[in-house]
Amino acid sequence: IVRLDGVPMQQDESYRGMLFLLQEVTEIRRLEKMRSEFVANVSHELKTPVAAVKGFAETLLGGGVTDEKTARSFLQIIYDENERLNRLIGDILELSKIESKRVALECSPVHLIEFFDSMLETISKVAEKKNISLSATVPAELFIEGDEDKLRQIFLNLLSNAINYTHEGGSVKVTAHNRLKPDGSESVVFTVSDTGMGIPRKDLPRIFERFYRVDKARSRSSGGTGLGLSIVKHLVELHRGSISVESDLGIGSSFILELPLLQEEEES
Ligand code: ADP
Repeated sequence: IVRLDGVPMQQDESYRGMLFLLQEVTEIRRLEKMRSEFVANVSHELKTPVAAVKGFAETLLGGGVTDEKTARSFLQIIYDENERLNRLIGDILELSKIESKRVALECSPVHLIEFFDSMLETISKVAEKKNISLSATVPAELFIEGDEDKLRQIFLNLLSNAINYTHEGGSVKVTAHNRLKPDGSESVVFTVSDTGMGIPRKDLPRIFERFYRVDKARSRSSGGTGLGLSIVKHLVELHRGSISVESDLGIGSSFILELPLLQEEEES
């Protein structure tokens, strides 16, 4: 074996080169497999609402539905399925933007009490409908540096899930506390916990995957796209944070997020 510059290669050098090439090929194959699975999933997810809209619209156009009540219920289905399509397209675009690193954070100090006050106000109507109590316990005067819009997206997703997957009369809580890490840097640990249906142990490692749902029918009926937690994980990682989940089936789930108190400047 000779190198491009004509110098013969040492045997171990060429082995290392081949090993590196093999690893590269394996990684490219893995990414390609992930990409084609994602495309297959996306087309499957999009086809379902499109087919429903087409089917019900055709029935109405065919003139076979004469009573107004049935016609209205068909129109409602068309409307709901169209809304689902909208959410799906929005989430798919968002995810692909984040994954191709086309998202830049616009960080500023975020006052946590004000942040959660407005967040709970936004979501309280949904909780009230299910008689779910909603609370946030955050230390006074705690600020975190982050992109407020993205932080809203993270917590709205987690809180909507917590409400969605909790029975009537349950409770959903957010807590936050400071943590001094062994390396001397400070972070804030948030917990979003609910008294809901919980997640089976075998599903826990997969719930941050795109389109992974424990119960497909349930997720669909509550309007889920199966992309929320994937988006959350990416946004947390963009903030140089981490997220994990603990859950007991039938008792509830807790999502634990650790975000650095300050975002360090990226080296140019
Ligand atoms: P979806 O749109 O289906 O809610 P997500 O990505 O947000 O998609 O969540 C993925 C899956 O994780 C959900 O379908 C559900 O099975 C499970 N899940 C998420 N949050 C909770 C929760 N708080 N309690 C129970 N299950 C949850």
